[in-house]
Amino acid sequence: MLLIHFQRLTYCLTAAVLFLAPLATDVHAAADKTTHDGRTYYSAQWIKNYFRFTGISTSKGRVILTSPKVRLAASSGSQTLYLNRVKFTMSYPLLSKGGTYYFSHVDAAKLIHPVLKPGNIRQATPFSTVIVDAGHGGHDSGSRGPYGVEKQYTLALAYKLKRQLQAKGFKVVLTRSGDSFLSLQQRVALANKYSNAIFVSLHFNWASSGGAGLETFALSPPDSSSTMGGYSSTQFSGNRLDAANIALATAVQAYSIKQLGGVDRGIKRARFAVLKGLKMPGVLFEGGFLSNRSEAKKIHSNLYLERMAASLTTGIVKYRTETTSR
Ligand SMILES: [Zn+2]
Repeated sequence: MLLIHFQRLTYCLTAAVLFLAPLATDVHAAADKTTHDGRTYYSAQWIKNYFRFTGISTSKGRVILTSPKVRLAASSGSQTLYLNRVKFTMSYPLLSKGGTYYFSHVDAAKLIHPVLKPGNIRQATPFSTVIVDAGHGGHDSGSRGPYGVEKQYTLALAYKLKRQLQAKGFKVVLTRSGDSFLSLQQRVALANKYSNAIFVSLHFNWASSGGAGLETFALSPPDSSSTMGGYSSTQFSGNRLDAANIALATAVQAYSIKQLGGVDRGIKRARFAVLKGLKMPGVLFEGGFLSNRSEAKKIHSNLYLERMAASLTTGIVKYRTETTSR
């Protein structure tokens, strides 16, 4: 199995994501569980045993689980989780209670488990089509940078990505091919006409102070909070693909960081309208901050967008290879 490369190549992480078996709920002792705010949590020790880590260290609010191939690190009160060098945002912070650290059930089942535990992600079926969604358009310019606006960069990136994916043999559908406005619902409806497809929405970020780097969003699982705020127990159609969504997000983010460098803002969850209704694996990629002058300058360069398209293509190709080679 592909985990073999795990210890030295974070970017193989997706290989492991692609196998998913149900998280057994009957194998833990009661002492390994706790309830907080009405939710079930598993102790770090339970996570260690269940996922067959060999080492555990807890000090100064930090939990580190190790095996020959995987290093998991999380900090009390923080949602940040590292699996080797791949950075994730958990649905809930690591809980510290009575000297023991706990991971929420949804993070164990929908993040750690699909990444680490062999099994099949049944929804990650072979695909030949990539729906490339250039964010914004028409009267909706998106964020504004010093050299241009988001809608022009997402479209430029979409065309570059289209050409590079076509060169790899994919069929590519653009949700918009010019400077036109489409609602988020129209984008989803258009995407859902295609089968054997995945969906990649392209955006650029903006922050009033200090934002930098790349991030990739997958739809929040039910019974979790969103990185953008808000709890929901609703199951959207996109949630049927939770395991595939995080596999695709992991591939896209990991290869973008590997090939482009810069600040790694990690793999995050949100209930974006453009992801909720999808009937195929989908992610939303944020390719840097237009509010950051040096990033905005790079994004304004054709060469950089070409490299960004190449990194996205690599992530998509890896995701496909790993889902179809099992
Ligand atoms: Zn946007």
